[in-house]
Order: sequence, then structure tokens, then C-alpha cells
Amino acid sequence: MRLSKSFIPTLKEVPSEAVIPSHILMIRAGLVRQLSAGIYSWLPLGYKVLRKVMDIIREEMNAIGGQEFHFPGLNPKEIWEQTGRVEAFGDILFHVKNREYVLAPTHEEIVAYHAKGAIVSYKDMPQIWYQIQTKFRNEPRPRSGVIRGRQFIMKDAYTLDRDTAGLDVGYALHDKAYRSIFDRCGLKYFVVGASSGAMGGSKSEEFMVKSEAGEDTVAYCEKCQYAANSEVAQSVAEPAKKHDESKTVYEISTPNVKSIDELCEFLKIHEHETAKSRVYMHDDKPVLVLTLGNNEVNETKLTNALGGNVRPCHPDELKEISGADAGSIGPIGFKYRIIADNLLKEANNLYSGANKNNFHIGGIDLTRDVPGIEYFDLRTAESGEKCIRCSSTLEVFKAIELGHIFKLGTKYSEALGVLFLDANGKEQHVVMGSYGIGVERILACFIEQNYDEKGLTWKEPLAPFDIHLVGLNMKSALVSEAAEKLYKQLAEEGYEVLFDDRLDGSAGVKFNDADLLGMPIQIIVGEKNLKEGKIEIKNRRTGEKKIVELDKLLDSLQQPV
Ligand code: ATP
Ligand code: MG
Repeated sequence: MRLSKSFIPTLKEVPSEAVIPSHILMIRAGLVRQLSAGIYSWLPLGYKVLRKVMDIIREEMNAIGGQEFHFPGLNPKEIWEQTGRVEAFGDILFHVKNREYVLAPTHEEIVAYHAKGAIVSYKDMPQIWYQIQTKFRNEPRPRSGVIRGRQFIMKDAYTLDRDTAGLDVGYALHDKAYRSIFDRCGLKYFVVGASSGAMGGSKSEEFMVKSEAGEDTVAYCEKCQYAANSEVAQSVAEPAKKHDESKTVYEISTPNVKSIDELCEFLKIHEHETAKSRVYMHDDKPVLVLTLGNNEVNETKLTNALGGNVRPCHPDELKEISGADAGSIGPIGFKYRIIADNLLKEANNLYSGANKNNFHIGGIDLTRDVPGIEYFDLRTAESGEKCIRCSSTLEVFKAIELGHIFKLGTKYSEALGVLFLDANGKEQHVVMGSYGIGVERILACFIEQNYDEKGLTWKEPLAPFDIHLVGLNMKSALVSEAAEKLYKQLAEEGYEVLFDDRLDGSAGVKFNDADLLGMPIQIIVGEKNLKEGKIEIKNRRTGEKKIVELDKLLDSLQQPV
């Protein structure tokens, strides 16, 4: 492709709306342009890569027996009402105002609709249906470019089976296909077991990529590959000390001391000797939650432990419940339920708030002084703690969800009445699975893992072109003739070539663009080398250059620079 005739609007400046590397580079290299918050247009260069991603997905989905569909984005609202998901999606669902339509955020309902009456016998299954199609979600905080859009391309697949054994097989096939897709795209990823509670399924796993731009936090063990969302991740950490002798409880004046850090500083103690207090409302009843001073309450674990509705207390409620403000609350004299994290089990000689502003209490023995205290795993796992499986060091980091595989069961077939006759002639509900991949997220995550200070660093098989051919001074007949000849020759050899044939533009501009666009190999045709019958080859990733004889170029391309 000739750069002189292409629409590849590169930018020198960092666009102000972009923060993360992939977003910045996708705009600077002319892959995408924003139309509105969370809504992006794919420009030709970006769409070329996206098609390569889609081709890989198609090949792997077809390899497991997937059949490609294309379901509409505009859906009758009525079908979504039958499964209760108009309510479940809430504000995320886009409604078309003048008619009773919604814009589909996913397609379980539509798959079930078409299966109904068409899949009639156990002999009609298993089925794997998939599509690569646009989804609409009114995300409250679209950000990070195409990583969280309001319109995005998803590969979504659905399995239809006669029983859970069939579902297990379909699920395993998708697990395999997903690994092949992400491996072929050259991504570093890991798999996290997720709880699928609210969606009503039995098992689900997420394919994740480590990234500061991620909105999920995961705990990961490099050694045994234990990986869990930090909402549920467990870890082994040092418990509070149990001293041989318990002191008696005593009150300490601590003027203006509010945080654990301030308390440790004021009393010259370690945070491991303190119990941090947080008050929550559990179904309208207060509950005091204690953790070691250096730990945070994990609200998912707390909700799982208590059941029902749990929310943090408002500041004005706090004063009424405990007699003090946040920062001065503690277990001694607290009149309601008290629970604590497992690391505090049987701890003594602890410091905590006194339920009186500007006072703390020392010498607390939880067993002696807090009868009825209950212990649960309530804290958030932190980097540096030990893996619960293998005791190696855990790392906690942000991650982006690339894909999700999910055993749905019969939730949708029950809601929409999708029935078949089993081998005994008995009516049964079709058992479903659903499997999604964010197609644009693959590309963004690839960039997050492949760039440097100059720009993109593509590699096979996603590179939009194999070679960036730079004609330095195209006004020189020597250069333009040689470059044109090479362009033809390389195409004949089967290389995909982006040819910088622009008449204008200094060498500096052309080099910067070539580095920004990031094709794996650059071939530079310049007057000085040509006069000696030579040209320069540069490996974009390593920066290594070599000067070769023009007639040996094709051989040189066979060996990496
Ligand atoms: P997230 O937790 O990131 O919102 P999700 O759990 O809502 O994701 P699914 O409903 O499982 O996502 O959708 C399948 C895949 O679609 C996700 O794994 C992700 O890669 C992609 N995806 C979901 N929401 C978006 C979005 N707003 N923009 C781009 N891709 C998305
Ligand atoms: Mg979501």
C-alpha cells in the first residue's frame, strides 16, 4: 500500500483524552478515532489488524465445530423482558425510544429464541453457535479507548446441549480454543476462576492480561498459577501476635489521632499490634468489622460471610451507634455484633479505638474482652503475601478481562421455554453455555505488551504489514526508480508492504512515522547507499540495522536482522 494514497493520519502529539499506552498509540498511529465518549471509528490501518484478529478467532472457532451466525443488534424488548434482563442490565441497556426495542449488550436471549422449536430432539445437539458482532452497553465510565467502549465488537459463542456432561465438553472445547486464539495473537495472559453467582451459572473462568489499565484486581502466583479475583482471593499472612500474658484494658488519651498510621506513630507501636474498626449496616443492623491495622476489609468477602445486604455506615450513623467518629471506634463498649478477620483470632494486647473521640484503648484481649466475637476471612489479599496453594509469593495487580467462558445451565432455556425430547421421549430444557471475547481488547492488550518510546512494535501474525519501505528522497530519480522496483518485487514475493512513497517529508519525518507505525522490518532506500548498490534494513523491535547489497535483499530478509 502506498502511503501517499493512504489515510493513515499519524500524530506527533499525545492526545489529551488518552492516558494509557495502547490508547495513546492507537490514536497517534492512526488506527482509531473517537466519535463520542466510548464510541470509536476504526480507520483502515486499525481495521486491517482487527480483521487479522477476527480471522484467527474464526479459524479457531470453526476448528471446534462452531457455526458462524450474525444476529441483529436491534432486539425486541419483549424477549429481554421474558428473561428479566431489562431490569438486570438496568442503565447499561440502551433503549430505542420510539419503539419497544433495545440494543443488544449480548445475545443469550436471541440464541434461545432461535433454538426454541428448532432444536427439538436430543439428536439435534450438541450445537456451537458463534458470531463476531457489535454490542452496545451504556457503560457509565467509558475509558482506556476501545478497552471499555459503549459500542464494541464481541466474539460471542453459545453451546446448546442435552445435559451437563455435554456442556462440560463444550466448555472444555472453548477453553482450548481461547488458549489457541490468545497464544496465536502472541499475548501473555492467565486464567482466573470467577464466581458466577448473579448470572445463575455453575462455573466460569476469565482470561486476563496484566495491565495498569485494568479495572479488575487479581492475585496471581507465578509458581503454581493460582489466580483469583481480589474480591475472593485468599492468601497466607502473618497473624496478630499472641503474647504469653494479657495486659489489662487501659484507656489512652490520643488527641487528634485518627488513622492507624497516626496511632502507631503516636504510641511508637507496630500496625500489627492494632485492630482497625469499620462499621457496616447489615440488613439495617450495625456490625463492627475488625481487621489487623495494615489490612483492608474486603466488602465482597464481608457480604458473602454475612449474607443479605451490607453497606458501610454513614458518618452521622456512626456517631449514634458508637458515640464516636471514624478513627476512634473499637470493640470495647461497642453494643452490637462484632466480627473479625481470621488473622486476629485470639489476639491479645491489641490497641484500638475507645468509642470516644481522641481516646484509644490498649491491652485488648479479644477472647477475654469481646465475648461472642466471630471470625471470618475478611481481608483483601496483598502483594508479597504467600500463596494458599504453594506458599510462594503472591502478586496482586490490575488486569484486563479479555474473555469469559461460562456454564449458564438452563436459566435462559427455562425463561424462554426452549425444550427438547430426550432419549426417553421426556421434555427437558436445553443446557446452555456462553463464551465471549472482546475483539478490540485483544488488539489493545497486544499493544499494551508491544510498544516502546518511539511507537508500536508489531509482530506476526498481527502486524498490518510485514515491511515498511521508506523511499527517502523520492524526488531523486535514482531513489524513486529503485524504491518502485523494490515495492513490486517484494509484493511478488508475497510480502505485505507499506511504501512511504511521499514526495514531501524529510528523512526525519519518514523515520519517525516508520517507527511510530511499527512494522517489523524497515527497508530504507537512500541516495548515498544506492550509489554503492546498497540499501539499509532495520529491525524495528531491536533497532538493529544492516546495510546489504541491493541484489541480496531478498536473501537477507530470510534471515532476521
Ligand atoms: P467487564 O467486567 O470488563 O465489564 P463483562 O464481564 O461485562 O466485562 P462479558 O459480558 O463477559 O464482559 O463480555 C465478554 C467480553 O466482552 C469481555 O470479556 C470483554 O473482553 C468484552 N467487553 C465487555 N464489555 C466491554 C466494553 N464495554 N468494551 C469493550 N469490550 C468489552
Ligand atoms: Mg461489564
